[in-house]
Amino acid sequence: MDLSARYPRLHVSSHPLVAHKLSLLRDRATEPKKFRELVRELSWLIGYEAMADLATQPMAVETPLEPMTGAELGPRIGLIPVLRAGLGMVDAMLELMPTAQVWHIGLYRDERSLQPVEYYNKLPDAATVQVCLILDPMLATGGSSAATVDILKHWGAARIKQVSLIAAPEGVATLSAAHPDVDIHVAAVDRALNERGYIVPGLGDAGDRQFGTFAGPSSEPSRGPADETIEVVRRLQRNLTGE
Ligand code: URA
Repeated sequence: MDLSARYPRLHVSSHPLVAHKLSLLRDRATEPKKFRELVRELSWLIGYEAMADLATQPMAVETPLEPMTGAELGPRIGLIPVLRAGLGMVDAMLELMPTAQVWHIGLYRDERSLQPVEYYNKLPDAATVQVCLILDPMLATGGSSAATVDILKHWGAARIKQVSLIAAPEGVATLSAAHPDVDIHVAAVDRALNERGYIVPGLGDAGDRQFGTFAGPSSEPSRGPADETIEVVRRLQRNLTGE
């Protein structure tokens, strides 16, 4: 789904390698080991695209032949994985930026209300980085991301980007409305959220699929939702269509 005209801060990768790896990731037959590898590879690729506009400053370099002016990355970068599914994206990003700081904010999505609930936050009093990358494979309702951005802005982060693998249109709308200055980088925007708050076609539960924690039929995305959950999803859908 191409929403880039409506949301100028939305960047959807058009790279064929991303499309190929994402299809393998979605496949229900992809087992956790392969799934984790693909999350890592896709994070690397989307992260690389997300950092294309970071500022650099001149840096003196001596090649074996002569001195020259090279470039070094200007801003200090912070990685904020949304626990727990975002953890699988951290190593790839640290490969790209070994000096990035990793800060953990724990938010879980209440299963019925789909609202983010904060349970862990160890950020120091003042911001120690200039650019924050929020890592979450799935931008679903957008509630956790908007809440994380609130926390990071309050902390003093100057620039914030969301790096995800798949987004729902509802999640893009929620995050863009709450924080129009936040760039959203994704591999794909899918059709919709279903009534349980899962992205469809999506890939299922990104945390369960990475960590092999399938708790049986009660955790399956196709199980019937609570009325409260259905109402939240319908509200997000109404926001999206402006009804
Ligand atoms: N979180 C997931 O892991 N998957 C979804 O489809 C939505 C939220």
